[in-house]
Amino acid sequence: MNVKTRFAPSPTGFLHVGGARTALYSWLYAKHTGGEFVLRIEDTDIERSTQEAIDAIIEGMQWLGLDWDEGPYYQTKRFDRYNEVVDQLLAENKAYKCYAPKELLDEIREEQMAAGTKPRYDAKHPRVVAANAEATDSSPFCIRFRNPKEGTVVFDDKIRGRIEIANSELDDLIIRRTDGSPTYNFCVVIDDWDMGITQVVRGEDHINNTPRQINIYKAIGAAVPEFAHCSMILGDDGAKLSKRHGAVSVMQYRDEGYLPQALLNYLVRLGWSHGDQEIFSLEEMISLFSLESVSKSASAFNTDKLLWLNNHYIKTSEPEYVAKYLQWHLDAKGISTENGPAIADVIVLVGERCNTLIELAEQCRYFYQDFEEFEAGAAKKHLRPVAKEALELALVKVKAQDAWTVENLHAVIADTCSELDLGMGKVGMPLRVAVTGQGQSPSVDAVMALVGQARVVSRIEQALAFIAQREAQ
Ligand code: GLU
Repeated sequence: MNVKTRFAPSPTGFLHVGGARTALYSWLYAKHTGGEFVLRIEDTDIERSTQEAIDAIIEGMQWLGLDWDEGPYYQTKRFDRYNEVVDQLLAENKAYKCYAPKELLDEIREEQMAAGTKPRYDAKHPRVVAANAEATDSSPFCIRFRNPKEGTVVFDDKIRGRIEIANSELDDLIIRRTDGSPTYNFCVVIDDWDMGITQVVRGEDHINNTPRQINIYKAIGAAVPEFAHCSMILGDDGAKLSKRHGAVSVMQYRDEGYLPQALLNYLVRLGWSHGDQEIFSLEEMISLFSLESVSKSASAFNTDKLLWLNNHYIKTSEPEYVAKYLQWHLDAKGISTENGPAIADVIVLVGERCNTLIELAEQCRYFYQDFEEFEAGAAKKHLRPVAKEALELALVKVKAQDAWTVENLHAVIADTCSELDLGMGKVGMPLRVAVTGQGQSPSVDAVMALVGQARVVSRIEQALAFIAQREAQ
């Protein structure tokens, strides 16, 4: 049988890391098995669903690269279909009209709780029976699913193992409300059936719905899919992950300078393992992933590890891949790369030291933008009158270069040192501050090679002017 999985978010907020991990596991399972992946927007809760949330979810999925083979489907566009099945169940006596008013059911529930019994709908309760008997054709009603009274529902959760629940624990679920709208647990089943879903991967908060849904599958004569319920994600402090823990929306991770590959690698390990391997390319994730190896215990979020992975991917990914995502941050900082070196070359040079793309974008700045001020501490220490001679000689040599290469610029520095009988630091540091405006950078010759001759010349002149002004004070 061809595998088909789905991700079925309710658009009541952005795509958060818990949802993204569920989506990733579902997507990986489909990819691993050569199956298909469906995106379905569960927007039946009209009051809480928003277009903004739909857009945010789709944007998050696209940014992560979790592409779908079908969809997005929208539940609100399928009401006719749900009603068709409700009518069919009614005709087959597998569902029935319930006229008991909500107030009565609330009262009964309170009595049940006061008596210490589990609150539930009881079709045989004398007052419910009476309410149904008294109803007329014009009385409002909802439609309930006739849940089996005997036996148990058993399923083998791919993550949590065998789960068994007695039907006596389940009451007759409303499948169509008094206002005519179908209910969530019903729509999910009809969708998964119609869409041919073979594995349902979702959060453990849905585990109580599963036995009820299985009974509906059986009633409509549909094959019951396999289920895999993923555990919760906790914050570093052990509490359920929430906004309080900082970034929880996937797009906020983009804003904070993470690469999608780092977040995917982080999310896949958050509850799944393959030996003690930490780094997984997308291809490895796909080939090694299995639902059986997903942990059933809750996983704790660890921002330091995510940062470490991000640095790893900034350092080791194809620079063109990093450049694609860095561009967003450069734009956000107003750094235009038109008149400067290729971004990929700059990434190779400065990426090593950066944990986020925000840091990386900041380190790119001096390659593309001139500056009027030097970092105060670095200037104070290195742009002093004693550095003047070294900068002046370096300037002459820099201007004289016909071939602007790292090797030649290395020779410029070495020759300046030997001609003036100065150590590397006495020439390299003032040059670094002059060219980059700061006290730290990769190797100065490589930096100068990318910054370009005209800019290097004008920046050394700017540094000399700074020293002259300092002397004059
Ligand atoms: N719409 C549900 C949610 O966002 C998911 C339901 C399901 O995956 O079956 O929590």
